Amino acid sequence: MPRYGPADSLKSPRFTGPSTFARLPHVTDLEGVDLAVTGVPFDTGVSYRVGGRFGPAAVREASMMLRPYNPNLGVAPFEVLSCIDYGDIAIVPGYIEPSYAAIEAAVSGLVAAGVVPLLIGGDHACTLAHLRAMRSHGKVAVIDFDAHTDAWDSYFGQKYNHGTWMRRAIEEGVVDVDHSIEVGLRGTLYDQSDWTVLRTELGLEYLTTEETLGIGAASAAARIRERVGDRPTWLTLDIDVTDPGFAPGTGTPEPGGPSAHDVLTMVRGLTGVDFVGFDVVEVIPAYDPAGQTAFLAANLAYEMLSLIALRRR
Ligand code: MN
Ligand code: MN
Repeated sequence: MPRYGPADSLKSPRFTGPSTFARLPHVTDLEGVDLAVTGVPFDTGVSYRVGGRFGPAAVREASMMLRPYNPNLGVAPFEVLSCIDYGDIAIVPGYIEPSYAAIEAAVSGLVAAGVVPLLIGGDHACTLAHLRAMRSHGKVAVIDFDAHTDAWDSYFGQKYNHGTWMRRAIEEGVVDVDHSIEVGLRGTLYDQSDWTVLRTELGLEYLTTEETLGIGAASAAARIRERVGDRPTWLTLDIDVTDPGFAPGTGTPEPGGPSAHDVLTMVRGLTGVDFVGFDVVEVIPAYDPAGQTAFLAANLAYEMLSLIALRRR
């Protein structure tokens, strides 16, 4: 059996004990660890609602419900992987670039120890720091589930925030653009070119929400798998890709999105991909009245670690 795993909820009730992801032990020694769930309580990069710094705590709380067997993928992930809750990265509240440095240092440490990072945000600006930390893998293919492109050049003259990280990451040479894709784009735009520049300027493929719902979640997953091929791949999931009826607790909600089931199906459909890391971002518990956004984020994180377990089994 793996060195580290969750507490047995048939022996101690799941609502007991300190709050960690999926009741995993909070461990900071990386010996014998395959995957580390890590909080990134950073929300200084947002353009609208703030509060994502409390996302990791809310997702941990909701993740107490997770059980050891994934019936959809047919895998018991914690029997395959030694998983820990690595705690939260000490970001610098109010300061983006020092926070990026702290995030990159912490995630680089995980990567150097051969540990797969599964990061819980925090706002989407942090994904630039996550990708910087993956340089030892070379350029990584990026799958970005998001209602928004996050590929602006700047916002109010500023280069680093949750609307620009994708463009910065491409400029910095950490993204394998030819095998990357954004999925779930929707909502009002400033201009049609907000989307089309992805292809014409950046070489980045995309599927809109209308396209994913048109072909169905399983077919969308197949299109994504085809795009990334056998490349080392980072999966980033902005919870706002989901319809705000299912995930209201987020910063920039866009009505008319895929259901929670659709999003789970798309993620679950990414079997066989060579994932090197994951993040789930933009959960804001203050706007999440029944905790449904945090429950969904916890379940999406569970699907992500199940995908790694399935590939390694
Ligand atoms: Mn985003
Ligand atoms: Mn978004």
